[in-house]
This record gives sequence, structure tokens and C-alpha cells, in this order.
Amino acid sequence: MRKVLTALAILACSAVVQAQDHPADAVSQERLEADIHTLVGFGTRHTLSVQDHPTRGIGAAVRWGEATFKIISAQCGGCLEVVVPERIVQGRRIPEPTRLRNVVAIQWGTERPKEVVIVQGHIDSRVSDVMDFTSDAPGANDDGSGTVLVLEAARVLSQRQYPSTIVYVLLSGEEQGLYGGQLMADYAEEQGWTVKAVLNNDIVGGSCGSDGVCDDSNVRVFSEGPRADLTEALRADQRRNGGENDSPSRNLSRWLDGLADEFPDGLNVRQIWRTDRMGRGGDQIPFLDKGYPAIRFSVAIEDYEHQHQDLRVEDGVTYGDTAEEMDFTYLVRVTQLNVRALDRLARAPMPPVVKAQAAVRTDTLLEWEGVPGATLYEIFARRTDVPAWGSPIAISYVDGLKPASSGTSESTRNWSHVAKLRGDDWFFGVRACGPEHVCSPISSAVPAGAFAPIPQEEGDSK
Ligand SMILES: [Zn+2]
Repeated sequence: MRKVLTALAILACSAVVQAQDHPADAVSQERLEADIHTLVGFGTRHTLSVQDHPTRGIGAAVRWGEATFKIISAQCGGCLEVVVPERIVQGRRIPEPTRLRNVVAIQWGTERPKEVVIVQGHIDSRVSDVMDFTSDAPGANDDGSGTVLVLEAARVLSQRQYPSTIVYVLLSGEEQGLYGGQLMADYAEEQGWTVKAVLNNDIVGGSCGSDGVCDDSNVRVFSEGPRADLTEALRADQRRNGGENDSPSRNLSRWLDGLADEFPDGLNVRQIWRTDRMGRGGDQIPFLDKGYPAIRFSVAIEDYEHQHQDLRVEDGVTYGDTAEEMDFTYLVRVTQLNVRALDRLARAPMPPVVKAQAAVRTDTLLEWEGVPGATLYEIFARRTDVPAWGSPIAISYVDGLKPASSGTSESTRNWSHVAKLRGDDWFFGVRACGPEHVCSPISSAVPAGAFAPIPQEEGDSK
């Protein structure tokens, strides 16, 4: 009887998201596990697999993702707009024209709906031969883990409202060449969204490698150095004046590291200062190409025997990306970190665009345009050979009542601050903070430091 009651209790908990102090506390391991088993149950989710079978293949998986978002939306009074952008794709790993569909759920912001934070994982899977679309490809960790993280984030965050928009995305076509990421980056551009951050989650549910090395305390966050959309002019400016370590994605990575440090029981962020793992890629890249700030979350230790592998036993070694090889406690913690980040980014204002003037003077003039939703700005400086930002060196209050402000209530006027530092020896940055002191990532006053795509010059070759 007790067993039955416990089972019923778990079922009840799984069905309804419980109200908690913070949405991250509502993340459920039971739901994450159940969703992984559903995904694995589609047999293969290869992009070239069957699209019209009711229970097998990418078509069934995508329909399930869409239905799941709609159920989540029904539980928040229809708060999610579910759309399924699609296009026909063909390429090196897609020999025939193939229908590609992403599943997207949009939780519109109440104050600044065009400002968006995107969280995504890829729903497609593969085995040893990337063109094998019929063999079972469970793709539990790669990237069932990212997919179920996105669904769970939608469940817990849709219970609240946010000033800016959160977009939950299940991507297809990753293994065949980042097709879903490309479609989604194009979609964001077509919608005219101001992309504050893209959190790409790919392989986030394991903690041990094929060599027996384990690490369940860290999660890796990959960020690009020089941005992909630099023009020749900005590249030259950056070579001369610095900034190769201050891209928006790099500052987003620093921000995530700082956020994780606030929760000593949670995962630590290991910042990896390269775009992705060596010789490999992910769905953050099409966004970076367009100039959108984007990072990749991935496990601290990859397990090469249990990704991109045919299911088999060879010399006593079991190969294949199955749920049995996953660490669900770890996946819960990566999901919680994502939820904390989304909750905060959706409340924070956009990072401002900052310029610094320091030539032939003993101090540094910083200028930036105000951003909607900001109640104050914090100014930072760090030595050029120091990797991390420290504490603010100054604060400017929007309400005009506090020191260091020249007094106006307009949040979008131009701001300036004179730092009593010789600018040659420092990097400067500014972050915008909203109510409850929820702050954006720091935006660096360097060439191409702005959290915005770089206007491409006529005839410029990247
Ligand atoms: Zn992947």
C-alpha cells in the first residue's frame, strides 16, 4: 500500500509543477527521466528517418515535442505560443531534399517582448555512420539531455511572467550540419528579435568518461573569442586596440560563471574560451555567425563510447548513447543552472553599448546609451591581462537622486562616466541592472564589444 501511495505521489508531482521559491527548485528528475525514455522510445530521431510513422523516427519525435509544449502551455493558461518553423534542406549529409522542422515555444515578455533569451537543444540523433537513418539511435545524452532540459525549463519558468521573452527550442538536423540552428538563427533575424543570449545545451547529462574519469561538479561553457561577424575594419580596430577576449559571448560566459558561484551547492562553471570542443561544432555557431551572443553548455567529461555509436558490445565494452549511461542527478543540476540563468536574463535589461575614450589623457571617458528597464548602471574596470571582472568601480543611478548621476528619469538618454584611470592599461565595461538588482552581463568598451550584430559593410568579406 505504501508503495502504491508513493507511486501515486510521484505521479501527482510529475503532472503538476509545484510552486517553489525559485523556479529552479521545481526542476524534477522524474520528469527529465520520463522524457528521456519517451525520446529513446522513438527508436531513431535521425534527420533523414521516417517522418510519417506514428511512433518511430524524427517525425514522431518532433510531433511529440510540439504536443508537449502545448500541454505545458495549457497548464499556464496558454502562455506559450508554439510554432514549428520548417524548410526543405539538402547538403553534404542530406543527399535528398528533406523537410526539416524545429519546435519553438515562445513565452512573450510583458514589457519588452522583442528582447529574447533562447534556450535550445537538438532533438535529432545519430549512430556511428552519420548517414545511417534506420538503425536504433537512442541519442539519450546527445542530445536527448538538452531536449528534455528545454522542456523542463519551459515547465518551471512558464509558471511566472517576465519583462522580456523566453524562447524554448528543439532543433532538428544538428548531426547533419547544424541545419536546425541555422533555421532558428534565421527565424530570430526575420522576427527582428533583439537576442540577449542563446543558451545551447548539447550533451549535458553525464559525468564519467570512457577512461573512467568522472566529474560531476563542473559544467563546461564554451564561448568564442574574436566574434564571427567581425568586419575587416573592426578586426583591424580590435588588433590595434584590443578586445579579442571581450566578445559578448565571452562576457555571457563570465556572467554565467558568476551566477553559478552564487549557488555553492550547484554546479561550478568551467569556462572554456573557445567556440566549441576541438574540431567539433554545435548549434550556437549559426547564431554567432549572425552576431548573436551564444554559448554552449556541455558536460565536464565526455564519454566517447556512448555518443555517435552503434548499439553493440565489443570486447566486453558496451557502446551506444543509452539512458543507462547518463547521470540524471547531474542533468538536474545543469537544468537548474539554465533555469536560474533564464530567469535572471529574462528580468535583466539589455547590456548597454559602451564606448571608451582614453587617448592622450589621464582619465577615461565612458559613454553609453541607456537601455529600457534599467534602474542603474554599474561601471567596471580590469587590467588588460586579468581574465575576470571584479567589483564595480562606480554606479550611476537612473532616478537621478543618487551620486554620480546628472539627473533625469529617462532611461534611454545617453550616459557618461569619467573613470580616474589611465585607459591604456585597463579594459572597461558597463552592465545595466533592473528592479531587485538583477543585472545584465557586462558589455565591454572595446571594438565589437556590443551585444548586437555588427552591421556588415558593403562588399566586406568576413
Ligand atoms: Zn549533439
